[in-house]
Amino acid sequence: MVKINDHFTSLKGSYLFAEIAQRVKAFKAANPDKKVISLGIGDVTQPIAPAVIEAIQRATQEMASAETMKGYAPDFGYDFLVNAIIKNDFQGRGIELSPDEIFVSDGAKSDTGNIGDILSADNIVAITDPSYPVYIDTNRMAGRTIELLPCVAANGFFPAFPEKKVDVIYLCYPNNPTGTTLTKAQLKMWVDYAIEQEALILFDAAYEAFISEDDIPHSIYEIAGAKKVAIEFRSFSKTAGFTGLRCGYTVVPKELIASTTQGEKIALNQLWKRRQSTKFNGTAYIVQRAAEAVYSPEGQVQIRETIAYYMQNATIIKESLEKLGLKTYGGVNAPYIWLKTPDDVSSWNFFDHLLNDLQIVGTPGVGFGASGEGFLRLTAFGKRENTLEAIERIIRS
Ligand SMILES: *Cc1c(COP(=O)(O)O)cnc(C)c1O
Repeated sequence: MVKINDHFTSLKGSYLFAEIAQRVKAFKAANPDKKVISLGIGDVTQPIAPAVIEAIQRATQEMASAETMKGYAPDFGYDFLVNAIIKNDFQGRGIELSPDEIFVSDGAKSDTGNIGDILSADNIVAITDPSYPVYIDTNRMAGRTIELLPCVAANGFFPAFPEKKVDVIYLCYPNNPTGTTLTKAQLKMWVDYAIEQEALILFDAAYEAFISEDDIPHSIYEIAGAKKVAIEFRSFSKTAGFTGLRCGYTVVPKELIASTTQGEKIALNQLWKRRQSTKFNGTAYIVQRAAEAVYSPEGQVQIRETIAYYMQNATIIKESLEKLGLKTYGGVNAPYIWLKTPDDVSSWNFFDHLLNDLQIVGTPGVGFGASGEGFLRLTAFGKRENTLEAIERIIRS
């Protein structure tokens, strides 16, 4: 009989969001008259920027005639988008990248998951705890040994350096789920560590656009030497509401070298090129034109407005909870508020309390890893009126 990849049996069930949905459904069935407000989802709610919609309409029209229609897109992205990315996301910050170091894709989830294809299953990977579940699950699927780096209030959510030698390190800043960041000096400690240990950093910068403070790096390549040790993942999903459109990109600098089992040195850029051209057939032309429009002057103004809207939600949530004497983290450079449960109540018990007594849905922190126990993640991606109503309910309780 055909055999499965046994490593799939080592995956914990992706019960988190299913379990939340089930508890919410049960509550609604028993209380059909009560309005439940979700501050739990990690998805955007505001419409796509008009400049982006216009670009989609223009590109769609191009598809309607033989002279201008587009077939297969280049495997690594159209020049117009790659050049806009280099100019807007990197050159302005003093980072020089060449077009063949940028790989446009259908999003950062695929790329952070697929990157393991070019790395040996023997690598030991370090992953922050709590974390975005993709890092852990994709490495379990490949059978890699995982070393968790606890990020807790006591260490200011700065990931503890691993006790044993690791080869690959996942960092996500601004962080999902904690909403916390690393300063330049803190990120430099990790870059220096990776250089010294000859390790690879996989840097997920999906929330880069939400940074408001000066000392927070937008790209890991702002740190000297990072091009030798880091791959960076970016996404238009949270930046410009592309969760349903699907576009992101990955930066693989040519200076990034790894070794074969025999000790031969190989550029990871070459391997990723090979991997993508074999297994990926490019992001849709219409979507790449949409992403290009994010960088237009009008597009920038419009996406900044939407980000400001979400971050105002974050401020409302954070300040109101703090006024009530609750302890929160994040919410300043990221659309997530990491709420410490009062009296050390467990994540799930606090979740049940909010759902049953106030009809508010959060995400239990323990669902993102053991170090998330005793926390709840609240998101700023909701509509303003719902956010305000949820906060009102908490204040009244
Ligand atoms: C939302 C998110 C992404 C983006 O994923 P897409 O596939 O680009 O939509 C990547 N990393 C983290 C940590 C996220 O929360």
